Amino acid sequence: MLKRSAAIALGLTLLAPNTIFAATAATPATPATPAAPAAAPAVQSEDLGLELTKQFLMADAWFQNSGEAKALYYQGYNLASLMLDKDLADKTVTKKRAVIVDVDETVLDNSPNNVRMMMEGKEFNPDSWNEWVGLAQAKALPGAVEFLNKADQNGVDVYYVSNRTVDQIPATIKNLQAAGFPQAVESHLLFKDDVSSKEPRRQQIEQDHHIVLLVGDNLVDFAQVFETKNQADRNKAVDELKEKFGQSFIILPNPMYGDWETALYGEQKLTQEQKLQAREAALTSYESAKK
Ligand SMILES: [Mg+2]
Repeated sequence: MLKRSAAIALGLTLLAPNTIFAATAATPATPATPAAPAAAPAVQSEDLGLELTKQFLMADAWFQNSGEAKALYYQGYNLASLMLDKDLADKTVTKKRAVIVDVDETVLDNSPNNVRMMMEGKEFNPDSWNEWVGLAQAKALPGAVEFLNKADQNGVDVYYVSNRTVDQIPATIKNLQAAGFPQAVESHLLFKDDVSSKEPRRQQIEQDHHIVLLVGDNLVDFAQVFETKNQADRNKAVDELKEKFGQSFIILPNPMYGDWETALYGEQKLTQEQKLQAREAALTSYESAKK
């Protein structure tokens, strides 16, 4: 936990100590006059890590508990199903049809791993992520199994295009199969090798398929134009392609992580302290809204 004086130096508003991790009824200390900056204790990196990750608590709580989150997944997959019906009725399509889905927070729910990171005050790290993936215990998200089985039953190819890494394919197949997903075989899992961009993998599928629609929780799941860390460019691209959402792009909610967050930090690599400041700076203030 940040010391209050350090928090003031950072311009941060903090919750009372221990209210989150120990669930104790800690009484917020009414601070006397803040200590002079020179006397402020050094901000520990561990404290900053806790503060950074703790800010995701409500996102995790919403994702795991709210009926609204569940309903948004159903809404997305119901819409996908309608769009699939519409496409299947088009008899001019001669190529084999395909639907492309992302994996994480699109068909599989990894929120328990996010909660673990949050509680431990750690940002994403490949080792813990690999450990979670290896468990192959992620649950299916609402509506995903039903939609993809419908696609499968209608002769549509299902491709899982994910930035999980290729060495995680066996564990992911195990997880997808256990959760009831169709076509969970190696040739239908296009995972990250050297290239993060999903564009070459989409093009590979498009060579011999008619792509009906794509489903994802991150804009980069849909098109290359979204592969920018510039927030304004990202949002402009969304406006320009607005007709595609709910048609061939089905977007699902993920307030826990994603490129929306990294875009808050711009192009540079920020320190933990700078990240905290950038998050606050990204907010539209009441004062500016009044003008
Ligand atoms: Mg995802």
